[in-house]
Amino acid sequence: MSDSADLVCFRCKLVLTIGMFWRSAEPRRLFLPGRLCQDDIPITQAVWKFLAEHVYHPVELLGEGDEDRWITINRDFTSIDDDAVGNPTLAQYIGHWPGRALAQHPRPMAEAVALAVLPQGSRALRQQSLAPADIGVVRALYRSTRWPEDPSDEVDDAALTERLAKLRTGLDALRDAARSGVPDLARPMEECVRILAPAHEFTHAILNQDRDAYAPPALFDAERALGLIHDWAWSVGPDE
Ligand SMILES: [Zn+2]
Repeated sequence: MSDSADLVCFRCKLVLTIGMFWRSAEPRRLFLPGRLCQDDIPITQAVWKFLAEHVYHPVELLGEGDEDRWITINRDFTSIDDDAVGNPTLAQYIGHWPGRALAQHPRPMAEAVALAVLPQGSRALRQQSLAPADIGVVRALYRSTRWPEDPSDEVDDAALTERLAKLRTGLDALRDAARSGVPDLARPMEECVRILAPAHEFTHAILNQDRDAYAPPALFDAERALGLIHDWAWSVGPDE
């Protein structure tokens, strides 16, 4: 039976798959497609880089069987060398990864939303027969939110204005969802509105005070929080 080994930093929300292995193999060796990890220079460099970067951080080495830990790892975590938007390739992680600082910057709103929304689960809501109006609210929430751009994307003034407008659209849809008559829908959304309250105060001028060539960390945090809500809305009421 195969298994995989992953290094995870829970502070920086970073996952590095360091190889696969056969549980019954003795001695155990890690491999990646077509190669043994111990002989592979890029993955070896990535492991040392990861270890050096995360001294004193809550780092764990997980296998697939660590289900109680994986359940706490959500889409806001950066998984090195998977194809999802915003994640670096192995070569970028070892070398130049423009989004590194932003991706590893703390995201208190996204973290709080993950705690408020994800455990509420969508199963209970799916099992209820939501009224058409409530299904409409969930779908509007899904359509009005999205997963944000790559943290490596450079953001100029025009892009900042555009992203701020999209954020406000998402926040408005969130408020509408919090007014739903279905408590299992309204409660987690009310909590998300409360968590995202600081994002209502964002202005171009405020966000410009704390940024380099990339997205302001506070904006990226709010966008990721809405991205998690976007995923949650899809699981509750998939778009037709
Ligand atoms: Zn770390």
